[in-house]
Amino acid sequence: MDHAGRLLRLQSILPESKLDFLLITHLPNVRYLTGFTGSAAALLVGEQGATLFTDGRYIAQAKQEVRNARIVIGSKAPALAAAEWLAAQRGRAASGRVGGPLKPSFGLSGATSYGTLGIEAESLTVGARDRLRAALRGKSRLRSAPPLVERARMVKDRVEIRRIREAVQLGASLLRVARMKIRPGVREFEVAAAMEYEARRKGAEGMSFPTILASGPRSAIVHGRASEARIPRRGFVLCDFGVILAGYCSDRTRTLHVGQPSREARDFYGAVLEAQLAAIAAVRPGVTAGQVDEAARAVLRKHKLARWFTHSTGHGLGLEIHEGPRLAAAQPQMLEPGMVVTIEPGAYVPGKWGVRIEDVVVVTASGCEVLTPADKDLIVI
Ligand code: ZN
Ligand code: ZN
Repeated sequence: MDHAGRLLRLQSILPESKLDFLLITHLPNVRYLTGFTGSAAALLVGEQGATLFTDGRYIAQAKQEVRNARIVIGSKAPALAAAEWLAAQRGRAASGRVGGPLKPSFGLSGATSYGTLGIEAESLTVGARDRLRAALRGKSRLRSAPPLVERARMVKDRVEIRRIREAVQLGASLLRVARMKIRPGVREFEVAAAMEYEARRKGAEGMSFPTILASGPRSAIVHGRASEARIPRRGFVLCDFGVILAGYCSDRTRTLHVGQPSREARDFYGAVLEAQLAAIAAVRPGVTAGQVDEAARAVLRKHKLARWFTHSTGHGLGLEIHEGPRLAAAQPQMLEPGMVVTIEPGAYVPGKWGVRIEDVVVVTASGCEVLTPADKDLIVI
């Protein structure tokens, strides 16, 4: 992973965001920039370099994983330790005793000689922000930073795409387990448990979200987690599942049918599949996320099912199961080669049934590649 390159690119865009420092507190962002996988960390990035703050549990791990930042082991919350450290550095600098490893550069932003510290507002609580402000003792101004790392993360590099492909392949293989386990009378959580066991056995670190397994009328619940409900003799079973492999997520949905589907059920499934294929066909560089969403929605509108399509068409994925870009109505984000997104339209009639079909695609130079180009005809059990 090119952690060094990512960090350098971030450092180079701090001035244009009028920031002297950026405090990274969202752990997937810390991991993206340094490779650190611990559960407590804050990364202070300045033009001169970066410093990773963590606690005593991670001394060995931080040394092993992080090559491009200084490591400071503290006993406080990492973000607070970073703020205190910065205040101390800047106190020394102000009194002419710059001797620390980080030379604060003053007035980069042209704002004040105290400089501006950007924070990731989406990952800090209001309480944490107040504690940071107190710890800075007026030595730096706090400002909500634009989502600089999230923007960079939207476009994956070759190594990341390989990791995602491997996660998606492992994740996709779990459908075989579902097909074997899904039988009338079996409880939903038994099917989910078998899939999750198989995932771990094959090397997954865990599931990327709690497995969704919703049978019969429960399939109309968009996020129907596997419950103790028994699979009925006849009806749809919606399975939405993903794994985390080497840090990267997969996400896939297949809707199966137990017993012979009615004509109406087949048509319903067919309409959702047509919407999914239309959205996949719409993915290419230069189209907006909103246009891809509209491609799916237009098909369901034609089938008079648009009112049952109650969520967005897809989302980016990578280190996190949900990240940018969001493929939703009117989203102006332009697609670019290297973006990895799910395409997952669905339709849900409350109390009756629901169908969703989801695949992960990579935006290529001319269109997209579906990472699981499997047959999507309705599976009947
Ligand atoms: Zn999913
Ligand atoms: Zn998804």
